[in-house]
Amino acid sequence: MPKKLLDIDQAIRLIRTAVRPFPKAAMFELAEEGFNSPFEQLIACIISIRTYDEVSLPTARQLFARARTPADISQLSIDEIDALIRECSFHERKAPQIQAIARRVVDEYGGALPCDREVLLSFAGVGPKCANLALGIACGEPYISVDVHVHRVTNRWGYVSATTPERTLAALEAKLPRPYWVEINRLLVPFGKHLCTGNLPHCSTCPVLDMCQQVGVTARR
Ligand code: SF4
Repeated sequence: MPKKLLDIDQAIRLIRTAVRPFPKAAMFELAEEGFNSPFEQLIACIISIRTYDEVSLPTARQLFARARTPADISQLSIDEIDALIRECSFHERKAPQIQAIARRVVDEYGGALPCDREVLLSFAGVGPKCANLALGIACGEPYISVDVHVHRVTNRWGYVSATTPERTLAALEAKLPRPYWVEINRLLVPFGKHLCTGNLPHCSTCPVLDMCQQVGVTARR
């Protein structure tokens, strides 16, 4: 018998409870620690690209302990920034990008990064995932951030059917109720890391099993 379709309100409620025991997604954790300006969120997101939260969190904290405003970071050399973030992936590429962002914010925006998506996307190294996450968390603006977890889980549900994170973003923008646009990332990052994992998802204990189409899932726990 075909399964019922996913009820997004019910799924969100169930997943809020399911992820409570797990560590928060890195950007949300940093925001709770007070690193909640658009600039701090954007820089932390760049650090997190292709890097596990276990590494990106202490790396962001280490950089911010030394310098956390655009003015302070703009004074650091690329080598100094590189040394501070060297645990994260692609630190050689990210260090000059971080310095360039800090300098442009000082030179062009009076030292404070505006909540402006076009501005964020104009920086080298910043794509829709980081721009949207920074705007969602730091500016309280409704933007969806689609990372590998949000992409994988929403497609497995059958809620969207999209081959790339970019297409998943467009599909979610057309379908997901706005109140969930920022929260979907906060919930599905830990849900995807610990329950709906890339390999062998924990379907037998999943709270949304009865309404998930399990698209593409061939082996499960
Ligand atoms: S039932 Fe399985 S595939 Fe569907 S959300 Fe749960 S863990 Fe993921």
